[in-house]
Amino acid sequence: MTDDATPVSLPEPTTARPVPGELTFRAPRRGKPPRHLADLTPAERKEVVESLGHQGFRARQLSTHYFERLVDDPEQMTDLPKAVRADLVRDLLPPLLAPIVRRQADDGQTMKYAWRLHDGAIVESVLMRYPNRVTICISSQAGCGMNCPFCATGQAGLTRNMSTAEIVEQVVWAARALRTGELAGGQDGDREHPLRVSNVVFMGMGEALANYGAAIGAIRRLTDPAPDGLGISARGITMSTVGLVPAIDKLAAEGIPVTLALSLHAPDDELRDELVPINTRWKVDEAIDAAHRYYQTTGRRVSIEYALIRDINDQGWRADLLAQKLNRRGRGWVHVNPIPLNPTPGSKWTASRPGVEQNFVERLRAHGIPTTIRDTRGQDIDGACGQLAAATA
Ligand code: SAH
Repeated sequence: MTDDATPVSLPEPTTARPVPGELTFRAPRRGKPPRHLADLTPAERKEVVESLGHQGFRARQLSTHYFERLVDDPEQMTDLPKAVRADLVRDLLPPLLAPIVRRQADDGQTMKYAWRLHDGAIVESVLMRYPNRVTICISSQAGCGMNCPFCATGQAGLTRNMSTAEIVEQVVWAARALRTGELAGGQDGDREHPLRVSNVVFMGMGEALANYGAAIGAIRRLTDPAPDGLGISARGITMSTVGLVPAIDKLAAEGIPVTLALSLHAPDDELRDELVPINTRWKVDEAIDAAHRYYQTTGRRVSIEYALIRDINDQGWRADLLAQKLNRRGRGWVHVNPIPLNPTPGSKWTASRPGVEQNFVERLRAHGIPTTIRDTRGQDIDGACGQLAAATA
């Protein structure tokens, strides 16, 4: 076995800022992150454990430690012989995320973490407690190639894809933080304030569907029942996308009923070409059709994300056009989640005025479209949607 876990020197990120409208699909290669248990299916784990000279059932024991007990410290694996523990942890539980910054907001009920990956790339995740759920917003790429001009991550360009295990580790860290009471608000034994991560949203850095294999692997690890995975309900997982149509169809065919969120932001091609550059490949109608097919295949109601940008996309006629386009495909299959734009450095855009926002919502509702303004958390710690830029680097 090659020593994958040998630390490498930390190269400077190489990506230059993208020019407006430029899309990046191929992630620069920066050396693979070390192999980790969470990269592997249960069958692959057994194979690898055996190839390392251990008995196959050790794979399940190790999985129980990691996914069920959230333990990666060999000292705590007392059901394994000492030498076996040390080997297995070295070979299958290498550290992937080094915490570099932790910031809190909302009286400690929102927590933003910045992580350094093995090659020096930095990603962020945001953990949020609500009265009846705990949501973590995770990253799937270091940076993003989709170049949406209102999003801080998009402006930074794509550094690299994350591995399945790097994606999953964010959730494992969060689950540990809940167990240790690091996130304010909940109490042990209080069923109203669960100590488990109930919701995972792929709304941090990156376009997860552009890193499809790793993202789907992560979804499987998150949803597989313990000890194979974390046992999180697929219904609690939201995949957010700019609208990569073929990948939406592929996701629908996976048979895992995660919620799909389509970042639309404009109902007309002229404006969407500018706000969401992928629209130059797949138009508004094609993206909405794919979202509708996703609903038909999975039975899961789709969310439409719409960041309300002052005087740019918040006109009443755009609410009407959006409602018409959604209703044309049927009723009850979709709801709209407008969110006031979070400011990003250097951007000329700002959030819609409250009255304008309210009017936009009411016009959608008048057309029978269920609409809820998305709660936004962590704006003061640059932890809100579109603000994750690893400025702590
Ligand atoms: N690449 C995925 C996930 C990224 S962000 C996607 O685009 O869907 C998750 C959501 O936050 C997306 O709907 C995105 O458009 C939105 N967003 C990005 N920047 C924002 C900002 N400055 N204010 C509010 N929402 C923003």
